[in-house]
Amino acid sequence: MGETMRAACVIGWPIGHSRSPLIHNYWIKQHGLDAVYRREAVAPEAFADFISHLAEHGYAGANVTIPHKEKALALSEPDDRARAVGAANTLWYDRGHLCSTNTDVEGFTANLDAAVPDWENRADEAVVLGAGGSARAVIYGLIERGLRRICVVNRTPERSEALRARLGPAVEPVRGTALPHVLARAGLLVNCTSLGMTGQPPLDIDLGPLPNHAVVADLVYAPLETALLATARARGLATADGLGMLLHQAVRGFQLWFGVRPEVTADLRAALEADLAR
Ligand code: NAP
Repeated sequence: MGETMRAACVIGWPIGHSRSPLIHNYWIKQHGLDAVYRREAVAPEAFADFISHLAEHGYAGANVTIPHKEKALALSEPDDRARAVGAANTLWYDRGHLCSTNTDVEGFTANLDAAVPDWENRADEAVVLGAGGSARAVIYGLIERGLRRICVVNRTPERSEALRARLGPAVEPVRGTALPHVLARAGLLVNCTSLGMTGQPPLDIDLGPLPNHAVVADLVYAPLETALLATARARGLATADGLGMLLHQAVRGFQLWFGVRPEVTADLRAALEADLAR
């Protein structure tokens, strides 16, 4: 490693499945940087020690994934997004302080901006399926962008009810039986459950009540074209997929660590698609 080489990593347990190295090393090569991005398998009991010595390990910053995101929040200085979501996925140093954010928030909205540039004109109200970590990030992003009402439907209703207390009155917990009713006035539907993912049960939903101008987004990216997105496209609805969000959420970390704002290009997307197809 040269004296000027900068490094970042993704920390998880396990970590072999992470696509982040493919994304960041693609940008490092594209921009001709003297830099590297690695995977770090760090067990839960070793995590606190690892990130409190991140610089000593040679890192300018890191991504953090399962199961460390809540601990990363507690052990760093989080911004408003990470605090509201309750989880941090990106760490960097600012004047010696270890700071954190949650880039799923901007990853989701930036992907919508790219895929359906006029989505905000269509979506005064949204329906979010799921109330886990990714739903919190998506809802926070929608609130940042000024959506008036976000109806949240979840298998465990207590979790969607808790989101209103956490994220504010724009969040409206809704029972599954009321889904057709709220879909009829929604300009945006987002799947934040793991349903529809390879190896998981299918997402069983009737898109019939959605208006024709509605946008459908799925966070699931394996398979790339989920049944939800295929059904929406067949009906002529605009869509945004999970791979786009995964790529867009990586932009900010790269900029913070390496000082260059990278772009999500068709070439990068093709490289990820090829890897996912393997
Ligand atoms: P999570 O915190 O574990 O939440 C999972 C959600 O799915 C919960 O709302 C859960 O409901 C629901 N769920 C799981 N199994 C279900 C079932 N059989 N029936 C009904 N609901 C079910 O997970 P997460 O981090 O939010 O991730 C959710 C999905 O988004 C995953 O597929 C993940 O890969 C994807 N994701 C993608 C990106 C991206 O960049 N594209 C980023 C983050 C996550 P309960 O509350 O009732 O358990």
